[in-house]
Amino acid sequence: MSNNWDVIVVGAGPGGSLAAKKCAAHGLKTLLVEKKKTPRDKVCSGMVMGEWAQKILVDEFGEIPDDVLVEPKNLLGYAVHVPGAPIQTLDVNTPITWRKRLDYWMNQMAQSSGAEIWDNTRVTDVTEKDGRYTVELRRDGNLYRVNSDFVIGADGARSAVRGSLFPEIKTTYWHCYRECYDVKLDLPERRFNFFSTIETAPFYFCTHDKGGYMLMEGGSAIGTIKDTIAQSRQFLIDHHGLYANIEPLWRDGCVEPILYRELFTGEFRPARGNALIIGDAAGLNMPVTGEGVGTSLKSGLDAAKSIIQSEETGDKSDITYLQTIDELVAKFQDIYAFSRRIKAAATENNPKALSDALLESWDHSLKLY
Ligand SMILES: Cc1cc2nc3c(=O)[nH]c(=O)nc-3n(C[C@H](O)[C@H](O)[C@H](O)COP(=O)(O)OP(=O)(O)OC[C@H]3O[C@@H](n4cnc5c(N)ncnc54)[C@H](O)[C@@H]3O)c2cc1C
Repeated sequence: MSNNWDVIVVGAGPGGSLAAKKCAAHGLKTLLVEKKKTPRDKVCSGMVMGEWAQKILVDEFGEIPDDVLVEPKNLLGYAVHVPGAPIQTLDVNTPITWRKRLDYWMNQMAQSSGAEIWDNTRVTDVTEKDGRYTVELRRDGNLYRVNSDFVIGADGARSAVRGSLFPEIKTTYWHCYRECYDVKLDLPERRFNFFSTIETAPFYFCTHDKGGYMLMEGGSAIGTIKDTIAQSRQFLIDHHGLYANIEPLWRDGCVEPILYRELFTGEFRPARGNALIIGDAAGLNMPVTGEGVGTSLKSGLDAAKSIIQSEETGDKSDITYLQTIDELVAKFQDIYAFSRRIKAAATENNPKALSDALLESWDHSLKLY
C-alpha cells in the first residue's frame, strides 16, 4: 500500500473515473478512492444527454458496450408535457444505462490505464502543506494518510474534499427521489417525458421506461419531498392511467448541491493550487435540465489536462482549470436565464409559452458545446 502518489482522485463517478484514466494514461501515479464498494449505483436517470457529452464519452472511453446499456438502450429524445399545451418533442439520440453499469465500466477503463482503485474507502479530510496534499482516509476501520502533488475532488454532492478545502462555502441542497414501477403508461415510447404545470413551474418531474419498468423521478427543496412525490403520482393517476393503489417496486433518493449563486458571483471558484474540484462536488450540474454526467466528464477531462500541463510547465494547475470552469459557468448563466422565461410564462398563465420555454432551454443545453 503506497503512501505517495502524483494524483489522488476522490470519487469514482464518471468525472473521477475519466480524470483518473487520463492522468494514469499519461504516466502519473494515480490513486482513485471510492467510498462505496464497486460496482456502486447512483440515483440518476442514467442518460448521457448532451451531444457534446456523448462525444467526450466516445472520444475518451469508446462506444458504450451493448451490455452496459439498458433497454431501450437509446431514447429517441424528450417529450414536454404541459397541461393545456400540445405535447412537444425534441429528437436527440440518447444512450441510457443504470449508473451501476456505466460507472463500473469507466472504473475498469481507468484501472486498465494504470490507475489503482481503492473502493470501500472513505476520504475524511484533505490538507495542504508546502504544496503537497495529505488525504486522510478510512479503510476497513483503519485510518490512513496518503500524500500527493495533486488532488481531484470528484466526490459528488456532499463532497468531503470541498468541505475540507472550502470550509467557508455553505452549500444548499436539493432533495431528489426515484421510484421504480412495474407498469406501462400511455406515454410516448422511448422518450424521457417531463411534466410541468402552470402551478409547479419552473419545477418538473419526469418518467421514462427502463429495463421494462417505469421510473418516476424529481426533486424539491429539503423537507417537501413527500408532498412532491405525492403530487407527481397524482398527476400520473389523473392524466396517464397510473393505478391509484400501485406501490413502487423500490424507491431511493439523494441530494444535489445548489451552488449557482456562489459560482456566478465568483464566491466559489472550485480550485485552489493543485486541488481541483469537479462535477457535482463543484456544483456543476446544469441549471434547468440537471444534466451532470456530461459536466462531470467535461470538468474531469479539463482537470486532468490542467494537471498534465502543470507537470510540464511547473505552473499551478488551478490557473488553466479555472479558465475552463469560468467558460462553463458563463454557459450555465445563459441557461439559468431560461428559468426566468419559464417562470414568466407560468405567471402569465400561458401553457404554450411554458412548453416552448422548457423545450428551448433543453435544446440549448444539449447543444452547449
Ligand atoms: C434523479 C436524478 C436523475 C439524474 N439524471 C441524470 C441523467 O440522466 N443524465 C445526467 O447527465 N445527469 C443526471 N443526473 C445528475 C447526475 O447523476 C450527477 O450530476 C452525476 O452523477 C455527477 O457525477 P460526479 O462524477 O460528479 O459524481 P457522482 O456520480 O455522484 O460520484 C461521486 C462518487 O464519490 C463517492 N464519494 C462521495 N464521498 C466520498 C468520500 N468522502 N470518499 C470517497 N468517495 C466518496 C461517491 O460514493 C460516488 O461514487 C441526475 C441526478 C438525479 C438526482
